[in-house]
Amino acid sequence: MKLTKKQREELRMKFGGRCAYCGCELQKGWHADHVEAALRKWNFGERKQNGTRAIVYTGEHWKPENDVVENLFPACAPCNLFKATFSVEMFREQIAEQAERARQYSVNFRTAERFGQVQITQSPIVFWFEKYQREGAS
Ligand SMILES: [Zn+2]
Repeated sequence: MKLTKKQREELRMKFGGRCAYCGCELQKGWHADHVEAALRKWNFGERKQNGTRAIVYTGEHWKPENDVVENLFPACAPCNLFKATFSVEMFREQIAEQAERARQYSVNFRTAERFGQVQITQSPIVFWFEKYQREGAS
C-alpha cells in the first residue's frame, strides 16, 4: 500500500522514531514492515539473455487483509530485509540462532571466542516495540 506523507510520519513515530525490532534510530530510507506478511503476487517476466527470468510483481497481494496500515511497523532496512516474510515469533527464533550460526561458519568468530573477545549469551530477544509498549514513551 502507498502511504500518504502524514501516514508515513505517524508510522515513523509509532515507537518513538525507532526501529520496531532492534530499536535503532530510524534513518532516511527506513522501511514500512508488514508485521504479518502480505506476500506480494508475482509472475515470471520475459526470459533474459542469460536464460533467467525476472520476477515481476503484479501489485496484488495473496493476503490483502494484511496490507493495511495497522499491520505496518517502522523498521530499519537490515531488520526488514532479514525478517522478510517471517512472523514476529519466527523472526525472534531466527535471531536467536545467529550467534550459533556465526560460531559454526566463521573462523573469525571462533578465534575471537577462544580469546574471550566475544561471548554468546542466552539473553532473551526482546524487540524494541515490546519494551516501548511496556515502559511507555518515557
Ligand atoms: Zn532494526
